[in-house]
Amino acid sequence: MNGNLHYLRRTSVPVKVGPITIGGDHPIVVQSMTNTDTADAAGTAKQVQQLAAAGSELVRITVNTEEAAEQVGRIRDRLDAVGCRVPLIGDFHYNGHLLLTKYPSCADALAKYRINPGNVGFGRKRDGQFATMIEVAIARKKPIRIGVNWGSLDPSLVTRMMDENARAASPKSATEVTRAALIESALLSAAKAEEIGLARNQIVLSCKVSGVQDLIAVYAELAARCDYALHLGLTEAGMGSKGIVASTAGMGVLLHQGVGDTIRVSLTPEPGGDRTKEVIVAQEILQTIGLRSFTPLVTACPGCGRTTSTVFQELAEDIQAYVRTQMPLWRDQYPGVEAMTLAVMGCVVNGPGESKHANIGISLPGTGEAPSAPVFIDGEKFTTLRGDQIGEDFKAILKTYVDTRYGDGPPALLTAHAGR
Ligand code: SF4
Repeated sequence: MNGNLHYLRRTSVPVKVGPITIGGDHPIVVQSMTNTDTADAAGTAKQVQQLAAAGSELVRITVNTEEAAEQVGRIRDRLDAVGCRVPLIGDFHYNGHLLLTKYPSCADALAKYRINPGNVGFGRKRDGQFATMIEVAIARKKPIRIGVNWGSLDPSLVTRMMDENARAASPKSATEVTRAALIESALLSAAKAEEIGLARNQIVLSCKVSGVQDLIAVYAELAARCDYALHLGLTEAGMGSKGIVASTAGMGVLLHQGVGDTIRVSLTPEPGGDRTKEVIVAQEILQTIGLRSFTPLVTACPGCGRTTSTVFQELAEDIQAYVRTQMPLWRDQYPGVEAMTLAVMGCVVNGPGESKHANIGISLPGTGEAPSAPVFIDGEKFTTLRGDQIGEDFKAILKTYVDTRYGDGPPALLTAHAGR
């Protein structure tokens, strides 16, 4: 799906990660990462399950210690026992070569290994440790992500490139050299992995930065210089609206240019906040751009002086939450329902018009309007709701609409309210 926009996806080599494929002409994959201690198998399995239930198609877990590596197989078993098949990705830094070789159950249970070339090791040890991880991936037929990060860029590479730049006739800015070093680190590491024997269709690349302009510049060049599948995301996007806006701005531009095969939105959760928010934001980015559909989205007006009550905001929120909770059931029962559009509007000014554009919409009464709420279905006035139960009545019509339009509910149900 690509809406009405001209969208030309960059060509990339598809990479199979368990049952999911990243790249090629496969749908852009949503992924997320846990923030539990992986050594706590029960807690980690529970959060993975929550992320998967929210729609994460791949989930990454930290594998930082022997205790964590020891539990990875048990986490996989716990997930399998409850029917959660989401592939797990292991995130390795510094000691990945040791953990992947000492704990074969960990290496087996993971569907992909994330390797940060800046954190593989130092000096002469670096190449050997990198090679060890690639050899494990080859032996176990696992893909890897070479995940370069602005905050942990290989210092020897940066120093070399900075020195070369200083000697150049027209030196570039430090920012330009750092951006180039990120790309170089990813491409050199990928070439090294291929030399060792890893196939091209087992390699995903990422170059994560925390600035939107840097992200766009780096990925535009990386995309032009290779055909590896690309994992897209800002690192340390931040909290709340800042994290959402920065991720959307950066990824939106790149996705619209056809760059990106899998995405993660690295939001900092509020203390005690819900980790699944990053999954919902990632889905909403893809759906809003018109690249995939996950859940019917509710169009709601912002409200203004024409409506002084909060009824329509409450109804909009209630309907969006209702639709989201129904989706795990609806997805199987009502194919295509994820593309349905809804509108909940505050008054007569834009209410009927916007509602007519949606599959199903309601225009609530603004200040001074008669206390009635016309409902529109597929562009036509369907009924007018009145009284204290408008929200419940609208939900009942919505259920009937979903059953009739996407299931095998009798069409007559949709005419039952007509003329009220
Ligand atoms: S639809 Fe009505 S209440 Fe909503 S923003 Fe427009 S004028 Fe204001």
